[in-house]
Amino acid sequence: MNLQRRTSASFIACGTLLALVYLATLAVADLPELYVQLLTTLCYVLLGAAMLLSALFNHSREFNVLLVTGLSFWSIQAVFWRLGGTLAEADVLFACICVLLPFNFVLHTLLLERGILTSHGLGRLGATAIQLALLIWLVDKHAETISPFVLYQPFRDDAFALSAMPQVGLISVALGLLIVVVQSLRRPSTLQNGYLFAFVAVALGLHFARSEPVAALLFAAAPLLIITAVVLNSHNLAYLDDLTGLPSRRALQEALMTLGKRYAIAMVDIDHFKKINDRHGHDVGDQVLRMVAAQIRRTPGSRAFRYGGEEFAVLFAGKNADETYMHLDSLRARIASTPFVLRRHFRPRKRPTQPRPRRANKTITVTISVGVAQKRLQHSLAPEEVLKSADEALYRAKGSGRNRVMRASPQ
Ligand code: GH3
Ligand code: MG
Ligand code: MG
Repeated sequence: MNLQRRTSASFIACGTLLALVYLATLAVADLPELYVQLLTTLCYVLLGAAMLLSALFNHSREFNVLLVTGLSFWSIQAVFWRLGGTLAEADVLFACICVLLPFNFVLHTLLLERGILTSHGLGRLGATAIQLALLIWLVDKHAETISPFVLYQPFRDDAFALSAMPQVGLISVALGLLIVVVQSLRRPSTLQNGYLFAFVAVALGLHFARSEPVAALLFAAAPLLIITAVVLNSHNLAYLDDLTGLPSRRALQEALMTLGKRYAIAMVDIDHFKKINDRHGHDVGDQVLRMVAAQIRRTPGSRAFRYGGEEFAVLFAGKNADETYMHLDSLRARIASTPFVLRRHFRPRKRPTQPRPRRANKTITVTISVGVAQKRLQHSLAPEEVLKSADEALYRAKGSGRNRVMRASPQ
């Protein structure tokens, strides 16, 4: 699976997990007190585990929103569920949480990842501590002053009464969700998916805050979703190449074990790649690598892997070398005939008032050499040996002048 598919898979995984937790909430509404206590304990255990994991992986956004979620859950449990409805301060505190939680989810999704124990990371922890101190001070000393703001009801509609959240909280959550969804569309990633669904879980937890077990279960879903995303993300790091988005060599080793009786393996290597790096810089080299990877991925009936450096391995299940030759040669011809446009570094800040004479963009020609070998039915060659034959054919392609596809000599 490439990066895009893995990101979509994590979206589906997190969505399914949250849907399952939501279904489970239907069964916990009338739980005896002892089980409710167990659920709240579970919520804290999961929050602790998720914070530990985020800290170990240095994911400060996840760590910070989990911390804010934990503090909010604790305040709701210790104050709102005990005194809500009877003490004005408890309702004001809950209303403030309904504004602050979405605010923090938005804040940390917009900030860049800068680690936890760095000056940026400590600054963010400080921001959480300041919010907490301010909240305690305001609710304790000035609850009456802030109450008209956080409990303000701009709408008269009865539908709003269905939620435990006051109207200002509902509006904050809706706006916050909108921003986090837009951010997830702009920068889709496995971690962002976990973050988004954790926010949805927390928002639902606030919405159903009148029922302790239902809210506890939904708050527990947030760390569970973040743990899932962190684990899936670290799997991606191990199995996916960051630069090209193709599966990595480790994924290739696993794929080799699952091949059937008939298959072909091609090894692809960019010609004179070192010269491209030397003449145009490493960044251009990286762009060339991405372009070649994108072209290889388009080869029909194949699975492409980044083998290392500027080499790629392509697996063709159920095909022999002859059947793959046409596809590989058209891949080679396509790359050789598509001029690679070098992006200009200089871009004027202001749009020029006079149209400037158009200068042709500089282009370079990129070529690849390919060696392909097949597993033959009557031979008991291990996949690694077929790969080695493909590599040998690749080096013959290099020796015969490059920009060509060579078949391994039949064993
Ligand atoms: P040949 O035609 O014989 O394959 O020559 P070549 O120059 O392509 O091969 P060589 O093995 O001499 O050089 C490969 C270069 O690829 C050296 C290394 O710096 C560069 N390289 C490896 N990985 C990356 C990468 O991720 N990005 C960039 N920009 N360069 C890389
Ligand atoms: Mg090369
Ligand atoms: Mg090479």
